[in-house]
Amino acid sequence: MSTKNPTYELGVAKARPTSVQEIVDFIITQAIRSKASDLHLGLTTAAPGGPVTYMLRFRVHGKLQMVRTEVLGGSQKEILSRLKVLANLSTTDIGNPQDGQINMNTPEGSLVLRLSFVPTPDGEEVVIRVQRAQKIPALDHLGMTKEMHQAMVSLSQQKSGLIVINGPAGSGKTTTIYSLLTSLACAERKIITAEDPVELRLPFVSHTAVGKNTSFAQLQKAFMRQDADVIFIGEVRDIESAEAAVQLAQTGHLVVTTLHTRDALGVIPRLEAFGIHPNFIASTLVGSLAQRLIPRLCTHCRAEVTYDAATTTYMNSILPMFAGAKLFKPGPGCTNCAAGFMGRIPIYELLAVTPQVSDLINRKASQKELLDVAVENGMLSLGQEALLRVYSGHIDFESVKTYLVV
Ligand SMILES: [Zn+2]
Repeated sequence: MSTKNPTYELGVAKARPTSVQEIVDFIITQAIRSKASDLHLGLTTAAPGGPVTYMLRFRVHGKLQMVRTEVLGGSQKEILSRLKVLANLSTTDIGNPQDGQINMNTPEGSLVLRLSFVPTPDGEEVVIRVQRAQKIPALDHLGMTKEMHQAMVSLSQQKSGLIVINGPAGSGKTTTIYSLLTSLACAERKIITAEDPVELRLPFVSHTAVGKNTSFAQLQKAFMRQDADVIFIGEVRDIESAEAAVQLAQTGHLVVTTLHTRDALGVIPRLEAFGIHPNFIASTLVGSLAQRLIPRLCTHCRAEVTYDAATTTYMNSILPMFAGAKLFKPGPGCTNCAAGFMGRIPIYELLAVTPQVSDLINRKASQKELLDVAVENGMLSLGQEALLRVYSGHIDFESVKTYLVV
């Protein structure tokens, strides 16, 4: 569809838009300026059974917020039609859901608007996802500590082995992986991926798409013949994909993949549950990175907070050296933020598999034994990393409790 759609040049937003075209440009400009991820133009009523009117909402920093609707000027239906024209959709079909996209050039750069129209008894509603051109941060700009970044670089330089990135959906795994692959991409390295779907093309990377019915056994054979150095498998989701990842890692490839586990160590029992022998895990796993994204406190309006004795005791038990430090909670919201938050920051936990850790995996050691050795080797847990950010005033303890749970 993107090739069929012409690129729309976003007009300069007028302070008092009058024509439908100007109103549409104004709304989109407002959405971009407020860093909205989605724009909702939908119907509502002030009271059950009352008259139905249109409302405009933006999702900013993950939270849906009302936008002043005077700007719509009573032209809601015409606005929906205008959006459909720009997205090459039927303006006469208002009884069926329709999906489309608008490619757009704006002063802030090019972006894609993905539109979804649904019919209601009182008229159509539209939700517009704003997709900005994705920037891949360099590996040293992912918000890792210097030590962790260096550890990631040395893991990624391995000639063979398995690196697992894990965390729930929306924890920033894709950004980390694309950053890692970009750091490795060059003419001297063959990098091939198996993704569902392929979202972004990277230089010097052969992207292949896999579906629900893809045979990983076949894929593994094909990848063996592709003379690859680095292989990214989008997700290890079953026995077949786990075996393919491990066998490719055993045969001279550096394999990067994702798993859904609670923490970095959780990868080991998960691979065992897929039927991978501890011996094979010990000989192939080189590193496991767990991550989360936690809402960042707005430093302009954050407020100091004191927690109850139990919480304070708990926090002090994890990082005693910070006892008595100032702590913050989200503020009431200001012109710089959305309800006290500004974007999100990543929290990481990296398990580097040393010979000692490998030996423990081989001996089927308990998670407790593995954790003790990993901590001795300098690993900080997700909880410790998050608490460090609480003490530095970047995030609040309530968010940690919410976002560290999978
Ligand atoms: Zn604020």
